[in-house]
Amino acid sequence: MEQKKPTMLSEIGEFGLIDRLTSNRKLVHTSSIKAVGDDAAVIDAGDHCMLVTTDLLVEGIHFNLVYTPLKHLGYKAVSVNVSDIYAMNAEPRQITVSIAVSGKFSLQALEELYSGIYMACDKYNVDLVGGDTSSSVTGLTLSITAIGVAKREEIVYRSGAQTNDLICVSGDLGAAYIGLQLLEREKAIFEKDPSLQPDLEGHDYIVGRQLKPEARGDIIKLLKEHKIQPTAMIDISDGLSSEILHICKNSDKGCRIYQEKIPIDHTTALMAEEFNIEPLICALHGGEDYELLFTVPLRDFDKVKELKEIHIIGKVMDKEENALMVSSGGNTIQLRAQGWDGLAER
Ligand code: ADP
Ligand code: MG
Repeated sequence: MEQKKPTMLSEIGEFGLIDRLTSNRKLVHTSSIKAVGDDAAVIDAGDHCMLVTTDLLVEGIHFNLVYTPLKHLGYKAVSVNVSDIYAMNAEPRQITVSIAVSGKFSLQALEELYSGIYMACDKYNVDLVGGDTSSSVTGLTLSITAIGVAKREEIVYRSGAQTNDLICVSGDLGAAYIGLQLLEREKAIFEKDPSLQPDLEGHDYIVGRQLKPEARGDIIKLLKEHKIQPTAMIDISDGLSSEILHICKNSDKGCRIYQEKIPIDHTTALMAEEFNIEPLICALHGGEDYELLFTVPLRDFDKVKELKEIHIIGKVMDKEENALMVSSGGNTIQLRAQGWDGLAER
């Protein structure tokens, strides 16, 4: 009998795998309004909806404890989950925290991790309501689930973008990635010669963006205050390019973004130059910025242009127009997803 060759996960990638594992499954409850495929699942809870999202952080894959203080790790783990709740235009309410720890961790180390988790709970106004604890053979694995609420009509999906909508992004991009490059460089120097101390002086912003990202609940509040309801939204965990393509694919649209409109902090650009990396590449493919990428109707242009934390970077087009970036030199470049893929060959 002919044996079928097993498919390597690196051949299909993270999103290909999720699709293969989940796309043929039918939902049995009408309360499951949105299942797999957005930043959070949406569940009908009567007069409102509940939102649920999970993220998994694995030592050696998502974080390196050589330069990640446990308190920062706890804070970041909550932030990245809450960010997915905000990306649905919802309000976070509760989290659960599950950990698997090896014998190298002490009580004090885990208390340090939890001090970061609780700091984030205070910041985002959420309660820790449970979790699970296990031992592990090597290192630390941390999984957080966040639960949020929203009125059904306020929820924003990746799929709602309309032709001619404005494409907007909050804050600035690429800093978390270049901060990681700096931390990795200093780690390598230290490992070669432990008498040399890491030189992070003057790089607080980019290092902070990597180690202690903030979920942009302030942007959700700002949009509500100005009565701006996005048509589609996603948070930027894998890089601008990958996330725009998610919105385009789910909305069945194309887009045009403009290189010169992409917000990049000057400290990001300076450090990128030091590494001989185009700052643009950090913004398009770096990831972990946890800014919000969203689309708004053209009629909101006057309102949005007054908000200095929000940058209009392009517009939604018909699908046939493709997903393109106009470079500063005037060339058009096809947008590609080259950001973080959890299953890419390493
Ligand atoms: P995000 O980057 O916003 O956290 P992901 O890219 O991790 O989202 O996940 C995309 C979608 O796939 C989400 O709806 C998520 O719940 C779902 N998903 C991811 N992994 C699995 C899995 N192993 N089984 C079922 N659903 C999954
Ligand atoms: Mg997300």
